[in-house]
Amino acid sequence: MTTRGDSIEQLGKRRFALLVVGGGIIGAGIAAEAARAGLAVALVDRGDFGAGTSSASSKLIHGGLRYLQLGDVRLVREAHHERRLLMHVVAPHLVRRLPFLLPLYRNGPYGQLTIQAGLVLYSALARSRLHRLAAPARARVRVPSLQVDGLRSCGVYADAVTHDGRLCLANLRAAADRGATLLNYAEVRELRTVGGRVTGAEVLVDGSVEAISARTVVNATGPWVDEVRRLEDPSASATVRLSKGSHVLLRLGQPWTAALAIPHDDARVSFAVPWQDMLLLGTTDVLYDGAPDRVEATEAEVAQILDEAAVAITKDVLRPDAICSTFAGLRVLPLGRGATASARRETVLHRGSAEMLSVAGGQTHDLPSHRARGSRRAARRPGLTPARSGALSTARSRRQRRGGRRARPALAPARGSRLHSPRGPLREPCRERSRSGRERP
Ligand SMILES: Cc1cc2nc3c(=O)[nH]c(=O)nc-3n(C[C@H](O)[C@H](O)[C@H](O)COP(=O)(O)OP(=O)(O)OC[C@H]3O[C@@H](n4cnc5c(N)ncnc54)[C@H](O)[C@@H]3O)c2cc1C
Repeated sequence: MTTRGDSIEQLGKRRFALLVVGGGIIGAGIAAEAARAGLAVALVDRGDFGAGTSSASSKLIHGGLRYLQLGDVRLVREAHHERRLLMHVVAPHLVRRLPFLLPLYRNGPYGQLTIQAGLVLYSALARSRLHRLAAPARARVRVPSLQVDGLRSCGVYADAVTHDGRLCLANLRAAADRGATLLNYAEVRELRTVGGRVTGAEVLVDGSVEAISARTVVNATGPWVDEVRRLEDPSASATVRLSKGSHVLLRLGQPWTAALAIPHDDARVSFAVPWQDMLLLGTTDVLYDGAPDRVEATEAEVAQILDEAAVAITKDVLRPDAICSTFAGLRVLPLGRGATASARRETVLHRGSAEMLSVAGGQTHDLPSHRARGSRRAARRPGLTPARSGALSTARSRRQRRGGRRARPALAPARGSRLHSPRGPLREPCRERSRSGRERP
């Protein structure tokens, strides 16, 4: 077993092909893919692995129902493809299918016909057969504390839920198993440059400074992305804006077999998700310009979350004394104007003046493409040839080129992309899946 001391020694002695700064889901995914491709990889995080945004999400692996409303069918199709990859191939032990109810109240923002049409299209893109309207009594079988006063019906569809922190750790474990050197509580304080190119970093570890040498440095520091970019170029202007999202976790003494997606207006939906025997409520969405380290859920936000949940959940479940914990995270959004709730959740990629690659934003379900795209872009440096190739999206785009634009990408990730062993101890059979692997209504 590698000890912390071994990792510190390796970081100082080895010359790495790739140094990833940030051990959230993006950095972990890139490190796992690059190590799988045969590169010598180092990854450091200044805190605990996955302790930033990657454990503060809504835990959903979804296709993005709201993008249909914006007319972005391509984005929804891609998100569903990546969700299927995660659920059936990459991490079936950590990504579980979950039915969702979208309650339609008499004074709500949507009509039944609009929702029915949207769900048919959404489910077709998801290749799922679950899309219908359920009467209140039937919906209450799945969600016992559903508020039925004024309820006309519920739209029913399927998405998936995960344990975001464990998904991040599973990627780090895969990277370590393939020879990557990982270290937490190791903060990048300075970047090293030779001939105008970033060639490593100075890292503060246990009170002393270690120099790490690497041909390519990837900045995957989420909400801190611009802070680390300014180590490369102190005058660099912002590339992203941040939006704060808070959540509440409640004790749940009832068997919910579906989650709720509660629409509040034509842009915002809040969720109530049964998770780890608790009920996860959220989230808020407000522009944030404070220090990323200080983000936390305020009392006003907790009150707002409980009020919004009360639109569709009976009050007995939403008691303040049933709150187990609250947490907040920061979404990284491309620069732009207007409300953050209607901003696209896109990945922002930036190549700096000294060649450091910064990757931030997007969603957890983008993991298969982050892994492929980040490691491929990082490898696009002179003298950096991975020993093995065949990243997910490379395989996919070749197939699409051969079959033309309409060819459907198959569920065929590159060898070694799985985060579980089919016979290994981590894998649990996914009860909701039929034997053929198709989603069951
Ligand atoms: C409220 C909310 C809800 C969300 N819900 C969903 C959802 O339901 N489904 C979904 O798919 N996505 C969701 N997301 C998006 C998803 O959580 C993020 O896209 C993802 O977690 C981003 O991961 P990351 O690795 O970029 O950032 P992070 O997880 O924040 O990781 C960045 C890491 O960099 C480290 N770091 C910073 N500076 C340094 C330094 N100088 N040296 C070393 N390390 C450093 C930090 O310690 C941190 O661990 C949500 C996001 C939010 C905020």
